[in-house]
Amino acid sequence: MLKRSLTEDAQEVFRAIALIELGARMQVLESELTLSRDRMIRLYREVKGVSPPKGMLPFSADWYMTWLANIHASLFYNTYLFLKNEARCSHLDALTKGYRLYLEHCQHSETDPVLDLTRAWTLVRFFDADMLQLTRCCRCSGKFVAHRHDLQHNVVCGACQPPSRAGKTKKAAAARREALSAAQQAA
Ligand SMILES: [Zn+2]
Repeated sequence: MLKRSLTEDAQEVFRAIALIELGARMQVLESELTLSRDRMIRLYREVKGVSPPKGMLPFSADWYMTWLANIHASLFYNTYLFLKNEARCSHLDALTKGYRLYLEHCQHSETDPVLDLTRAWTLVRFFDADMLQLTRCCRCSGKFVAHRHDLQHNVVCGACQPPSRAGKTKKAAAARREALSAAQQAA
């Protein structure tokens, strides 16, 4: 059995609390942390006041390809990569910090978050499993989420080319496009 110091144990508990507060499901906690399942369920109940929801996690990379989800996923993943590669955060820190930054950005641009923490976590897993890649948009040069074997050249991101039904949210898309290219430049 794994022997941990009290400090390490406390750190794991704080990580769990941070993830639960951001909306993590049990599967996320179980795969990211080493606390026992019983302790995590207890923590979940203490933090949320309810039992953790049961059921399977969403498992389709296609979800990230719809127009709005793709813009949000691209924004989050670019932030995650920046924190991990440039700011040298651990995977878990990049996930929680990146997700908080994403929520803050939604708040600033007065748009509802589309990506929940579990979707954000699954997105990172899909990239790690080489199911997804970042493709550079030939108009704004921002990188967006695409399937692994999708075309790489002369492709346009969702923010640059909103579908016509999204006319009302064109302004919001423009704001997101700016944020996306800002994230690009930072990364
Ligand atoms: Zn673009």
